[in-house]
Amino acid sequence: MSEQESKDRSQVRQKRMIADHFEKLARAKEDGKKVVYTFVPGNLTELIGAFDMLPVLPEINALQSGMRKKSAGYIAEAEKSGHSEDVCTYVKCDIGMTKSGNIGPTGTKLPAPDLLLLSYTGCFTFMKWFELLKQEYGCPVVMLHVPYQPDGEITDQMRNYVVEQLRKEVIPALERVSGKAFDIDELARRLALSARAEDDLVAVWESARKRPSPIDAYFGGVYYVGPIFSSFRGTEDAVLYYKELRAEVDARVRAKLGPMTPTGPVTRERFRLVVEGPPNWTSFNDFWEMFSREGAVFVASTYTRVGGLYDGGFRHDPSRPLESLADYCLGCYTNLGLPTRVNLLERYVREYEADGLLVNSVKSCNSFSVGQLLMLRQLEERTGVPGGFIESDLVDPRYFGKANIENRVQSYLQMLEARKAGRS
Ligand code: SF4
Repeated sequence: MSEQESKDRSQVRQKRMIADHFEKLARAKEDGKKVVYTFVPGNLTELIGAFDMLPVLPEINALQSGMRKKSAGYIAEAEKSGHSEDVCTYVKCDIGMTKSGNIGPTGTKLPAPDLLLLSYTGCFTFMKWFELLKQEYGCPVVMLHVPYQPDGEITDQMRNYVVEQLRKEVIPALERVSGKAFDIDELARRLALSARAEDDLVAVWESARKRPSPIDAYFGGVYYVGPIFSSFRGTEDAVLYYKELRAEVDARVRAKLGPMTPTGPVTRERFRLVVEGPPNWTSFNDFWEMFSREGAVFVASTYTRVGGLYDGGFRHDPSRPLESLADYCLGCYTNLGLPTRVNLLERYVREYEADGLLVNSVKSCNSFSVGQLLMLRQLEERTGVPGGFIESDLVDPRYFGKANIENRVQSYLQMLEARKAGRS
């Protein structure tokens, strides 16, 4: 099989999975299916699936709108109705989309939620966002409060606190709305499928230790986390997708190939970078090309851990279903304190033998942006690897200054080049 055919197989599968899901959502009301809106970090996809309900993730709709160049109009719509310029642009994009007919990323109309499931993992904006959706739809809200991890460890009290809420608040709410009784065996079955997909995803991340790295763990990585961060964790489809993806990446390792990009493969890996912070979605391909054409490859990123941190060893565990859901929610990247984040980044810089560490500080997201400069300085001191800092936004194109960002990226890469030359 040719490289292109092999590459296409997982991409084609992912595209079909997403299209099928949005088709199901479009037919949800006539099929009698209940719909749950929820957030990516700390999502309880297996639990929602165990009640045969369909998840909608407003952040994913917002980022897809950004990639499809629709977010500027939606944000303008939300600002017209009074949402200030400082509000997270995912929220404004979603509100604008709702007010413009709630047409989802694939062009089909999204159903109204039957339940808003608010997994609270460190972002206060989540609460305000669902307050707005509650006003819009008038449906019930159930909140899972996930305590912040200040010291880098999950204590029994923290885990029990989350499990108690799952037992006493979240599961009863899902039972009420779905009209179905909770089946713990069905949840466990789904968690076993999650763990298989998670094993393969970790193998894909770890392939970036090779030289050349066969993947770009940031720009390519956001495609790899699509199924596991959204509606598909705990499904056979996700297991097959990650198995195929891993096989494709293994084939690239054997052939000593660098990552594929929208403008072709990276044929010469010149810089290995670790990145902190989400990407910009409105100029995603331009942003990627600024690095790929210079042979700069991202070998690890924190953004691809925001919906679950698996490379530290965590797997969903069917033998302790609720406890394992609690550990998953507690362990998402933005639920970790700054010292733990710094330790993780230090590990990535060392283990993936990075030449540089870049921060993309997005205007919208305090969950990411707070403390990033301090983190950068600490990491420079600890690793000796030079840091770079750029600023943009998630889905507001007004905050992506292409020329300015390009200048900064080029200066940074030139500095890394000079440093390498000085060492050789
Ligand atoms: S502030 Fe950040 S974490 Fe919170 S909703 Fe916006 S993008 Fe998501």
